[in-house]
Amino acid sequence: MDSLFATYNRWNVNVVSAEGSKIIDDQGNEYLDFVSGIAVNNLGNRHQKVQQAILEQLDQYWHVSNLYHQEPQQTLAKMLVEHSAGDAVFFCNSGAEANEAAIKLARKYTGKSKIITFKQSFHGRTFATMSATGQEKIHSGFGPLLQEFTYLQYNDSDGLASVMDDSVAAVLIEVIQGEGGVIPAQPEFLTSVEVLCKQYGALFIIDEVQTGIGRTGKPFAYQHFNLSPDIITVAKGLGSGLPIGAMIGKAKLKEAFGPGVHGSTFGGNPISVAAAKATLDIIFNDEFLNEVNEKGKLLKTGLKNELAGVESVLEVRGCGLMLGIACNGDVSPIISNLRENGLLVLNAGPNVIRLLPPLTITKEEIQQAIKLIKAELIKFDILHPV
Ligand SMILES: *Cc1c(COP(=O)(O)O)cnc(C)c1O
Repeated sequence: MDSLFATYNRWNVNVVSAEGSKIIDDQGNEYLDFVSGIAVNNLGNRHQKVQQAILEQLDQYWHVSNLYHQEPQQTLAKMLVEHSAGDAVFFCNSGAEANEAAIKLARKYTGKSKIITFKQSFHGRTFATMSATGQEKIHSGFGPLLQEFTYLQYNDSDGLASVMDDSVAAVLIEVIQGEGGVIPAQPEFLTSVEVLCKQYGALFIIDEVQTGIGRTGKPFAYQHFNLSPDIITVAKGLGSGLPIGAMIGKAKLKEAFGPGVHGSTFGGNPISVAAAKATLDIIFNDEFLNEVNEKGKLLKTGLKNELAGVESVLEVRGCGLMLGIACNGDVSPIISNLRENGLLVLNAGPNVIRLLPPLTITKEEIQQAIKLIKAELIKFDILHPV
């Protein structure tokens, strides 16, 4: 372990295997996984249909490069455009790369350079996406950042209206801020972003890296509203654990991203594409998504009811199976106690417990998690009276 840069605060769990919604460590402990590899394993760990698709592709070709036509890339791109407002797809390897592509395309297409994003947003760790991220702690020590990024208050339509003008290339926004604290955008705010973008010739870019691929009960979270973004970026859940990202854009943008303008050696890697195709085959399906909505409601109302009397809980919020429990203090001891009791959950900022179970989670597992969370929060209440 000491041969690694210590860029991650790792938990004291040494994983040896994972299956469905369970992770098993080297002590034989079994954990209920409400993290899903940070919104990646939306079908749980090692879904057998995805594994089968990967094995089949392993027998055909692993990598040939984007010098060649690859039919599976076309099929996957078609699945993404058929279920979104976009018409064309650029494949890359991560969420940051998808946003990086979106930022470059916005500047190239509009000929303008100013990008508006929001406080508490998270868009990635590359230079452009770090510059787009509205959190000082992510910027710290790396200055000077890329120029022409402006961070506005999230959910403040008037603030945006007062800053928008003809010099803006794009507004980049999450429908629910994930890392920033599971903070949902208000519908009127999202509408005003779209209207102002149209009015000033700026691109409307939605970062669906965490919220996309069925996480909120729709293929993409923006589809809960009547919106038509110019660009949608995805990654995390797309490949069920294999690295792949995608930027999905409208037809008018195709001309600005012609041959030689942008690229990635591994972008659209065949093994990752095979995993993604199998993933979308299952998730982009009304029956599956209805169940996600149902389970999301079960978890949210269950938590709301069970935590109603708990003083340290301020709010249960979010959509589908992306929920946050906002507390009045540092949640890290709660998270580590839950882990010791067999439930893996994440934080989102210091005071929010973030729940991202696999979309395949069962109703029994949801009840089990609610019980464990309630017990832990009641203990926390006694130790930290308001
Ligand atoms: C995780 C995340 C990213 C960055 O994705 P990486 O694959 O880690 O580069 C970007 N935007 C959002 C909203 C994310 O949650």
